[in-house]
Amino acid sequence: MKGVVPMSTSIVVTSGKGGTGKTSFTGGVGSCLAALGHRVLCVDMDVGLRNLDINLGLTDKAVMDFTDVLAGRCDLSLAATEHPDIQGLYLLTAPMALEDSVTEEAVGQLVRQAKESFDFVLMDCPAGLGEGFRLACAAVDRGVVVSNTDPSALRDAQRTVVALTPQLETLQLVMNRVQPKLIRKLHTSIDDAMNTAGLPLLGVIPEDPQVTLAAAQGRPLILTTGKGAAIAYLNIAKRLLGRQVPLLMS
Ligand code: ADP
Ligand code: MG
Repeated sequence: MKGVVPMSTSIVVTSGKGGTGKTSFTGGVGSCLAALGHRVLCVDMDVGLRNLDINLGLTDKAVMDFTDVLAGRCDLSLAATEHPDIQGLYLLTAPMALEDSVTEEAVGQLVRQAKESFDFVLMDCPAGLGEGFRLACAAVDRGVVVSNTDPSALRDAQRTVVALTPQLETLQLVMNRVQPKLIRKLHTSIDDAMNTAGLPLLGVIPEDPQVTLAAAQGRPLILTTGKGAAIAYLNIAKRLLGRQVPLLMS
């Protein structure tokens, strides 16, 4: 039913191509959902190349990773690290290497368990459509494909759509790094992008140097500024909550 938000939602944040802004999106939208009063678990699925902990400034605190939970060495409630400044925002970090306990079934079970105590579970994917991608998609309810306007990123986004369509009913596109001055003139190219990627749009995020600066400081963007990409992340969080926010309000 339109406007009705399910009790708990798991979302895979993916792209195909690397460097399109998945981790920034997961940290940015995750912190906004938490700031709006929801319990959010951000799971770093980028094994070996994790960086969501840096983005959220939780590197020193997030000691246990998702393999510790899967292998039974640690309970999810202990491994999930809460952000000191945003109540309700939690990180479950990635290991440096996979182990045998990591199967699609086990990750799916973890996601289902996480949904019992979190309103949102955001799975931050590695680049590509390999094993890490498949693991991150286990038991998710919906998907977000983060792309920029580059033709190569859009083509990879389209491949991701093909891979996910049989599994997911709700799959939406986020156009990242759009030049702010162009956002209001972009109807045509955004329409083209949606056609190329074959997806409806969840949001448009402007190019904003604050995204990189805030990540380098390990400060969620919403705590550092109320402009630019921070507003875009907040509007996307509101849309995920079923609220109506005009799409081209950045
Ligand atoms: P991914 O997780 O898809 O590999 P990241 O989120 O790590 O991508 O982003 C890659 C780089 O792009 C980072 O340096 C990040 O700070 C930068 N970036 C992401 N989104 C934006 C944006 N909207 N404006 C400016 N820089 C961005
Ligand atoms: Mg990443």
